[in-house]
Amino acid sequence: MFESLSDRLQAVFQKLGSKGRLTEDDVREAMKQVRLALLEADVNFRVVKEFVAKVTEQAIGEEVTKSLTPHQQVIKIVHQELINLLGTENVPLQEARPGPTVIMLVGLQGTGKTTLAAKLALHLRKKGKRVLLVAADVYRPAAITQLQALGRQLNIPVYSEGTQASPPDIAEHALEHARKELFNVVIIDTAGRLQIDEPLMQELEQIENRVHPIERLLVVDAMTGQEAVRVAETFNQRVKLTGVVMTKMDGDARGGAALSVRAVTGVPIKFLSTGEKVDGNTLEVFHPDRLASRILGMGDVLSLIERAEQLYDAEQAKKMQKRLSKGEFDFEDFLNSLHQMRKLGPLQQIIAMIPGLNQLARNEELLDERHVKRVEAIIYSMTPEERRRPEIIKGSRRERIARGSGTSVQEVSQLVKQFQQMQRMMKQLASKGGKGRGGIDPN
Ligand code: GDP
Repeated sequence: MFESLSDRLQAVFQKLGSKGRLTEDDVREAMKQVRLALLEADVNFRVVKEFVAKVTEQAIGEEVTKSLTPHQQVIKIVHQELINLLGTENVPLQEARPGPTVIMLVGLQGTGKTTLAAKLALHLRKKGKRVLLVAADVYRPAAITQLQALGRQLNIPVYSEGTQASPPDIAEHALEHARKELFNVVIIDTAGRLQIDEPLMQELEQIENRVHPIERLLVVDAMTGQEAVRVAETFNQRVKLTGVVMTKMDGDARGGAALSVRAVTGVPIKFLSTGEKVDGNTLEVFHPDRLASRILGMGDVLSLIERAEQLYDAEQAKKMQKRLSKGEFDFEDFLNSLHQMRKLGPLQQIIAMIPGLNQLARNEELLDERHVKRVEAIIYSMTPEERRRPEIIKGSRRERIARGSGTSVQEVSQLVKQFQQMQRMMKQLASKGGKGRGGIDPN
């Protein structure tokens, strides 16, 4: 997501950073580069113009040029203006009181509407809601079966009347059903078209009049760039949108759509979708500040923590803390930690969220998942006794483990050696923690 834009902006700031004091010309030159980087990322040109003007005005001010850390001041200004551009704050989904909350998803065909319906249902169920999915895309029979299959997979009910009923009727009947069965949220997957056309717009208006959805979310494909922004403008004129969801942010989209849509239409982005799979890792609540930080290579620790919290196993963590505080971390614990981390998502995604490590996230060799698999294979080939007491892993044991894991004796030796170093470090930390402040609390 935003990799090339992120690279280019960081290069501009690095160059500025190498200069020490900054003159007005330095700032103007840097802004020229920023402008190019944004245009190349397919950000709307009017948006770029305004953005660069705002940043320049602040950056050539005395406060920056006279400051001891001028280039950091410039980054701070760009960061803040990016946040403003993206909408300042997250705008959460509204809830209807009394319920059920009706969410209508609209958008062109193939943008990922049906997939998003399922992701959103999963997201809301995690928050304790009873969700009903509604198949109102009657023109594409596969859309109904696709939604039903996703519903079965997630164990979320799908309301459907086949392809013969009219979508406004389906929506109204679904809402009646939801009221009777005490569902909290109704998500309507409406029909898409290849192009915007009048019958589609009329149908959406009819659905709107019948069920009064409190949320009218437009699903747009980030890969379509400026076209996505134009589509958003048109939909917003007919169905007053309450939010936009950007899909396919995992693709090689240059990101311009996400950066322009709010500024052009005034409609907030509410979610980003980042993959074909429907699971807890591929739908992100949109936070302007976090995205701005990620674009500028400052990481996104908050999103990482949120993800971790969702998957956090409190029992396991407590056990681990106790063992750590006694300096007892062994290969068994190491394996557990690896598994916990894996649940967070692909290694590359995780690293990219940590400040300062986003460059590292592109180092394929270092982050090779195969390397992690080899480490796992080596640990799996150890006996329980060896996992508990790595110091007994000597000559013939190393050979056996290498054979068992399909690796080499050197690799086994290296892992054992590194692990023992880590153990020593942890023991030191643990003993310090026992004596002073800031230690690890075993309870
Ligand atoms: P609809 O026609 O708008 O209902 O779109 P679908 O939900 O059927 O999605 C169209 C295609 O896009 C499918 O192949 C999906 O797997 C894919 N897709 C949906 N969301 C994403 C996403 O966030 N990332 C990627 N890479 N693919 C997606």
